[in-house]
Amino acid sequence: MIEVKNLQKAFGGNMVLKGVTETIEKGEKIAIIGPSGSGKSTFLRCLNRLEEPTGGEIWFEGKDITAKDCDINRIRRKMGMVFQHFNLFPHLTVKQNITLAPVNLKLQTQAEADEKAMRLLERIGLADKADAYPNKLSGGQKQRIAIVRALAMEPEVMLFDEPTSALDPEMVGEVLDLIRELAREGMTMVIVTHEMGFAREVSTRVLFMDDGCVMEQNEPHALFASPQNPRLKSFLSKVL
Ligand code: ADP
Ligand code: MG
Repeated sequence: MIEVKNLQKAFGGNMVLKGVTETIEKGEKIAIIGPSGSGKSTFLRCLNRLEEPTGGEIWFEGKDITAKDCDINRIRRKMGMVFQHFNLFPHLTVKQNITLAPVNLKLQTQAEADEKAMRLLERIGLADKADAYPNKLSGGQKQRIAIVRALAMEPEVMLFDEPTSALDPEMVGEVLDLIRELAREGMTMVIVTHEMGFAREVSTRVLFMDDGCVMEQNEPHALFASPQNPRLKSFLSKVL
């Protein structure tokens, strides 16, 4: 589904991604772990070109999406993104937040989008919040709404950047439960997370990033049970 070839990203003279090569297959659940500043968010944001790569290529479903003539907005519709700080539109109701993109892009009529939004809200038990504004919601509710807002576009892959890092501890579970459910349904996902238990339990593969490189990767049980790279060992000794 996604092929990343020698991906590089520099901010000025700061090389943040130093040549990452990865293939992500349909149905995989990739967890990205690693210390702060190692390039995890930059990697994720390059996948849908929220950051412009400074070198290398990214292919999505057989298309070079780093090519000059690529219509990146078409591609972005297929890649749902969920951020640490939810990024809901504060001046729109919950339902309007969910229907805005599909209606503006003429993918759904307002009536279709409304109906879909209500189904998604029912699924997460928040149908009664359809007409509320985001500032009336808890962090966990906001993040679950941000997730279903992304789902309303019927993406092929979901990208999560530390979706639970900004939450009070008692709200982490409800958000992880929803992501776990999507994983079980077969959604392809890439998730940057500090939740090692979640990474171990839900992911099919863990990538350890450090210093702009993927230093080690493995299926989760092996990676956590027998890390090879000294930096991964040291990282795990601090977070586990
Ligand atoms: P992580 O998500 O692993 O904590 P990031 O990808 O956010 O790491 O950041 C990696 C490095 O890139 C950091 O040194 C950070 O300061 C730098 N960086 C990230 N975004 C920008 C930006 N927009 N402008 C300049 N430097 C940036
Ligand atoms: Mg980050």
